[in-house]
Amino acid sequence: MRAMIMDALAEPLEVREVAEPAAPAGGVVVEVHATGLCKSDWHAWVGHDDVALPHVPGHELAGVIVEVGDGVERWSVGDRVTVPFVMGCGACEWCRSGNAQVCPDQQQPGFTQWGSFAERVVLRAADTNVVRIPDDVSFEAAAALGCRFATAYRALT
Ligand SMILES: [Zn+2]
Ligand SMILES: [Zn+2]
Repeated sequence: MRAMIMDALAEPLEVREVAEPAAPAGGVVVEVHATGLCKSDWHAWVGHDDVALPHVPGHELAGVIVEVGDGVERWSVGDRVTVPFVMGCGACEWCRSGNAQVCPDQQQPGFTQWGSFAERVVLRAADTNVVRIPDDVSFEAAAALGCRFATAYRALT
C-alpha cells in the first residue's frame, strides 16, 4: 500500500510503497477514506512525542473495514467506521468502566503505531474502540469526530 513516510523529524514526508498491514488478534484493518490533519500531528512531526522512525502519522480517520482479526465479534468486512484516537486495550478496569481514553495500555494510530496517512490502518481492540458511522454521515465528517469531538466531550464531562 502507499503511505506518507516520516523518515526524520521536521522534514518533508514522502509517499512510498510499504508492506500491507495485517489484522492482529482482536483488531481490524480499515481502508482509509478520510483523514484529518491536526496540531497533534505537528507535535509528533517536530519531536514532542516519542514516535519510532520511520513513522506514518495520522490519527483522525474514517473508512471501511477490509480485514477482521481473530476474536473480533462486533465487526465485519464492509462496515463504515471511525475510532477515537486513543484506543484502549479493551480489558483493563479503565476500559471496562467506559474510560478507555485513560487506559494505561493504550495505542494511538499516528503515535504509538503507524497511522492513517496511508491507504490502510490497523485498529486494535476493535470491539472496544471502533465506532460505526451512520449511513447519512460522511467519511469526512466522521474523521473529525474521534479526536476533536471526543477530546472536547471528555473535557466538558
Ligand atoms: Zn487530532
Ligand atoms: Zn485498557
